Amino acid sequence: MKNRIIFIALAAVLAISCAQRPTEVEIIPIQDNVTPRLMQRGLFADAPDSLFEALGLQDGIPSSVCAFLAKCDGKNVLFDAANGAHDSQLLPVLAFNGVTPEDVDYIFITHLHGDHIGGLMKDGTAVFTDAELYINKVEYDAWMAMEQNAALVALTQAYGDRLNTFALDDTLPCGIEAMEAYGHTPGHTVYKVGSALIVGDIMHGVALQLENPQYCARFDMDHGQSVATRKRIMEMAADSGFKLYGMHFPEPYYLQ
Ligand SMILES: [Zn+2]
Repeated sequence: MKNRIIFIALAAVLAISCAQRPTEVEIIPIQDNVTPRLMQRGLFADAPDSLFEALGLQDGIPSSVCAFLAKCDGKNVLFDAANGAHDSQLLPVLAFNGVTPEDVDYIFITHLHGDHIGGLMKDGTAVFTDAELYINKVEYDAWMAMEQNAALVALTQAYGDRLNTFALDDTLPCGIEAMEAYGHTPGHTVYKVGSALIVGDIMHGVALQLENPQYCARFDMDHGQSVATRKRIMEMAADSGFKLYGMHFPEPYYLQ
């Protein structure tokens, strides 16, 4: 396990092809939480106690709440926006990197759980006043059909015409590709940026699920589909050499 995780500095520079010409994309992890996060053992009801003990994870699985900033073709691209808590580090880390909320050009959403879209809104208004927001139409429609969709309705009103829904084969800005990763939520989406994959919530406890993908956290809405997606994405990454950035991965927030 430890051999499969390589620690480097927060900023990683990736050579990719963007807008059909070679350029470099910098992906900057933004850890939103101030205090360390542990996914508790009880969240993985199907995993046996003996496995947690064997892995030394009795006290919980190291985790985080992250968003990612990518610099692509002169644009500031945000993937998810974390939960918008009072101590959220999203805006401070963006500022540290010289990016104001107005400077964000595009925001791609992996799924519509509160810890991924909470940071898009503050006091009922849009935080990112100039950004175009992209959400998989499957995910958007599924949540709009649910009873508890007040946050999404408010988001829709606040972003107005800047909220774009898309199909998986649509052409997206900056050469970014959307990939089906359904299961955690109905339209959970992975994004490909050059040789990186922004994988959202395909894993909540990397130290457990990397070698034991059959176990789900209770946050996964469809466990069978989540397991199949997790295995498929991990196999694809292993075959293709993709670097995976996850919204709940522990530091350094990626796997390679
Ligand atoms: Zn999440």
